Amino acid sequence: TPTIGVLALQGDTAEHLHVLDGLGVPARPVLRPEDLDGIDGLILPGGESTTMSKLAVRYELMDPMRERVHEGLPAYGTCAGMILLADRILDGTADQRTVGGIDMTVRRNAFGRQTESFESKVDIEGVDGGPLVAVFIRAPWVESVGPDVEVIGQVTHGDRAGRIVAVRQGALLATSFHPELTGDARIHRLFVDMVKGNA
Ligand code: GLN
Repeated sequence: TPTIGVLALQGDTAEHLHVLDGLGVPARPVLRPEDLDGIDGLILPGGESTTMSKLAVRYELMDPMRERVHEGLPAYGTCAGMILLADRILDGTADQRTVGGIDMTVRRNAFGRQTESFESKVDIEGVDGGPLVAVFIRAPWVESVGPDVEVIGQVTHGDRAGRIVAVRQGALLATSFHPELTGDARIHRLFVDMVKGNA
């Protein structure tokens, strides 16, 4: 079984570790550059992407994460983590950096403010068993994608219908929403299969 690291600078690291534990997948927090050694996959949690960017630079994790991800380390980003995996962001702060890797433009806080958080059912390509309940908390959406990016989830109802909220590019996966908060482990299972090379 592979070992998965979960970035532990800020955000809902514990929830991701909990889901992985439930799946019986060895997982550990990543707080220092050396924590990246020996992991087979990396999860970038939800939280605050500008804070995570600053802390990742300060803890000297930004460049090593970039290197590992660009060398092919599988990674999954949720919400702020999706922003971190984006090659381009809109409505970021001037000094905000990303790990990058997914050829997409992501708009921060696109779905509105904290008080406008909402849930929606979203079908994810590659995930069987019906739609997931997607929780959006000051979530980004994907404004545009390059040719190598697969759109695997879009909002289907309401005035946000058509908005891209889940993508995959090779070994990289990102969702605008937070499956770690709903007790539905199907996307984490998809990611673990990607890490094993089975998906
Ligand atoms: N709005 C946050 C950001 O820009 C993301 C919110 C979240 O991860 N729930 O980083």
